[in-house]
Amino acid sequence: LNSIQGKSALVLGGSRGIGAAVARRLAAGGASVALTYVQGAAAAQAVVDDIEKAGGRAMAIQADSADEKAIEAAVTQTREAFGALDILVNNAGVLAIAPIEEFTTEDLDRTLAVNVRAAVIASRAAARIMGQGGRIIHIGSTNAERMPFAGGAVYAMSKSALQGLTQGLARDLGPKGITVNVVQPGPVDTDMNPASGPMAQGLIPMLAAGRYGHPEEVASFVAYLAGPEAGYITGASLMIDGGFAA
Ligand code: NDP
Repeated sequence: LNSIQGKSALVLGGSRGIGAAVARRLAAGGASVALTYVQGAAAAQAVVDDIEKAGGRAMAIQADSADEKAIEAAVTQTREAFGALDILVNNAGVLAIAPIEEFTTEDLDRTLAVNVRAAVIASRAAARIMGQGGRIIHIGSTNAERMPFAGGAVYAMSKSALQGLTQGLARDLGPKGITVNVVQPGPVDTDMNPASGPMAQGLIPMLAAGRYGHPEEVASFVAYLAGPEAGYITGASLMIDGGFAA
């Protein structure tokens, strides 16, 4: 059985959207779950309350992924609270869209800090304490493979960077029995990319599935990767995109 019962997990950016669904799904599988947020204290607490009401174990940690010390503290806090760190999900991400002529350096720096640098820092901190069977799962994007509209160059670059990071980390951590993968969703109905939002009209015709994904559909895939049955999957960029890039 693909059991994550009793495992300890940290989800960066777990207060809303895909990260919240991942936190809930890992907890439903029996993992203790720490989740970070930056602004959404009430939303993060609501996820924790839901998990606890269902009999699970969870905690929320305010930690801006742009802040190295905050990420490292979240990793330490997770291990101290739950006795280990078995599963790291690097989900926190930001999306800035603008024509390159107008793309600000501030947005460039923020995108790289949250989408890329944080994944390296969190993985480094996790690698120092994770044992055999450990799992590092990045949330990338189908835009690492296909960027069919203008204005998303920096976002796509940040998600392509996770592919290289994943391949290299798989080599570093394979000998320790830790797998590293990047899950690449297509359009998923969240605050970042609402299925009823202005981007959706252009995106839906590009989807083989003809619809947006639900956060729970990504979460179940992450839960599979987090379990022991996925032990031979590593260094992989895994599309879950409704055929967006097909
Ligand atoms: P949302 O914007 O809906 O949620 C983002 C989550 O990340 C929130 O919990 C937010 O916390 C947290 N977060 C944002 N910035 C930071 C930060 N600096 N430090 C810590 N936490 C932070 O995003 P989605 O759920 O849509 O996206 C999640 C991931 O999936 C991202 O990496 C995104 O790029 C990727 N993705 C999304 C797709 C989509 O269509 N939705 C498609 C492909 C990939 P807070 O509530 O405190 O702001």
